[in-house]
Amino acid sequence: MRIVVIGSGVAASHAALTLLERGLAVEVWDIGRQEVVPEHPGVSLHGLKSTLEAPTEFFLGRELEALIPPGTGELLRYPPARRFLLSRQDPHWPFVSDDHFKPYLSYSTGGLANGWGANALAYAADDLRGWPLTVEDWVQDYATVARRIPIAGPPEDDLTPYLQGIEPNQPPVALNAADAWLLARYRRKRRGLNARGVYLGHSRMAVRTASFEAGHCDACDRCLWGCPRQAIYEPARDTLRRCNAYTGFVHRPNRLVTSLSARDGRITGIRYLDLADNRLREEPCDAVFLAAGALGSGIIFLNTLAQSGLDLTAESEGLMDTQVVKLPYVALGRIGKPSVERSFQFNRLDLGYVRERGVDAWPRYLHGEVLHLTGLLYHPLIESLPLPTRWGKRLFFALKSALGVVTLFFPDRLTAGNRLVLEESTPIPRVRAVYAAPTEQRRYWGHCIGRVQRALLTLGCLPKGAAYSPPGGGIHYAGTIPMGEGPKRCNAQGRSNLYANLYIADGAAFPSLPSKSITLNLAAHATRVARLATMA
Ligand SMILES: Cc1cc2nc3c(=O)[nH]c(=O)nc-3n(C[C@H](O)[C@H](O)[C@H](O)COP(=O)(O)OP(=O)(O)OC[C@H]3O[C@@H](n4cnc5c(N)ncnc54)[C@H](O)[C@@H]3O)c2cc1C
Repeated sequence: MRIVVIGSGVAASHAALTLLERGLAVEVWDIGRQEVVPEHPGVSLHGLKSTLEAPTEFFLGRELEALIPPGTGELLRYPPARRFLLSRQDPHWPFVSDDHFKPYLSYSTGGLANGWGANALAYAADDLRGWPLTVEDWVQDYATVARRIPIAGPPEDDLTPYLQGIEPNQPPVALNAADAWLLARYRRKRRGLNARGVYLGHSRMAVRTASFEAGHCDACDRCLWGCPRQAIYEPARDTLRRCNAYTGFVHRPNRLVTSLSARDGRITGIRYLDLADNRLREEPCDAVFLAAGALGSGIIFLNTLAQSGLDLTAESEGLMDTQVVKLPYVALGRIGKPSVERSFQFNRLDLGYVRERGVDAWPRYLHGEVLHLTGLLYHPLIESLPLPTRWGKRLFFALKSALGVVTLFFPDRLTAGNRLVLEESTPIPRVRAVYAAPTEQRRYWGHCIGRVQRALLTLGCLPKGAAYSPPGGGIHYAGTIPMGEGPKRCNAQGRSNLYANLYIADGAAFPSLPSKSITLNLAAHATRVARLATMA
């Protein structure tokens, strides 16, 4: 029995490990580019400036590509020293146009989670409203995932009633002075804020923080540059490494899967571009777990339809992503306070806005990440001040420890018209992403933004505007082969309605996209799909 898992990210690695644990032999096929390994563990971000041989190249890039030119409107670019994101100029970039939807992809072993933000939340019953399964169906799989992924968080805080499903198994990441100040203000104003649906608490992060854990977080402020201590969970370094311990496991990189061949309602083979010699090949298989990321899996599935001879359009049933809105603020009580040298760099606090019962909003819980600045490249912020650079720099550093941002993640639903459309089949499939946010959602966004900004004022923070990321910027992709009825969907167990031995093991199968961070749920879904497939 030849079982192939396509992909090597969070979803693929948890599907593979589950199959291996059940005694099956598994091949993981992926494109398999390699992310650079961060050097100098133990050295902080600022320490790197004097430790590295070529710090300018590391921080700014060989061509100074990290420097953001004035007028672009960008505030942050991913560090050039990171390699895991696929460039739009790459010859294998699979989108012919991204006018409507600006996707992020990774063709590296481990996928997007090589550089993810590590926010790890489980869906609740209300998040799964309308799914053909309930949260009880995932209990066993969340428990499995919690044994594989470290979750840092508090034993209990005001967010606990809304962030259940996985118990933190590590202490929360350490707060910095600005976080502690905000949390203390929240505790004083809690009653009024809670009455308005606003809750603040520690972030829930896939990070080793317990001092007895090898390589636990030492707050070196390098999360964005790649955790040098392996404290942040990454599938390549954690779950795939566990897969490697099984004799039945084979990792086959350099394979860009283009489509699946099928006969009589079953997948019989996998077509791929062998990147070692750039030739198209095909190999037989007995079962396929599609886990190339919701976009990648959708593309492979559409190309399979196009080659199937069936009378089905090569357009997906859906395309979803969370809409990201950033709400910057100045914490007035923090102005002029010294800034922190060492910190965990990602958000250390979360904010939840809970709609009152009876209001027809889905889901009731809207998730926000609260971040006070630590180590970053600040020149775009400094240059955006209406002052000469030297004065702007002084003012910026007086304000730095007072600056924060709440990032809200708005949910998404399957919406008619939002889809992937196959445009080219060979040599590799390429698609067009068509996406428009439903207009009625904008009213809901406006309401929530207003509520959170008012809460910030209550907390002694001055909010300033709202920055909307372009569609695709949420990097929580879902719904390209969603659960439901019809040949282009899958059932509640993730099995394709069209092909009996094809399993949709990643976010492609999700029939809606709650506000909470997706990735822990991808791991639970993949684990469940693999578990149930072995019981069939
Ligand atoms: C900067 C950043 C911050 C983020 N922060 C968070 C966060 O805080 N919390 C959260 O929940 N999520 C976050 N995410 C999103 C999270 O990283 C993704 O949801 C998750 O990693 C997706 O996992 P996946 O396995 O479904 O797909 P991917 O990670 O996309 O993996 C896809 C895999 O499939 C392979 N592949 C693709 N196409 C093919 C093909 N044709 N043939 C063979 N192999 C193929 C790729 O090589 C890769 O191994 C963040 C992402 C980024 C980039």
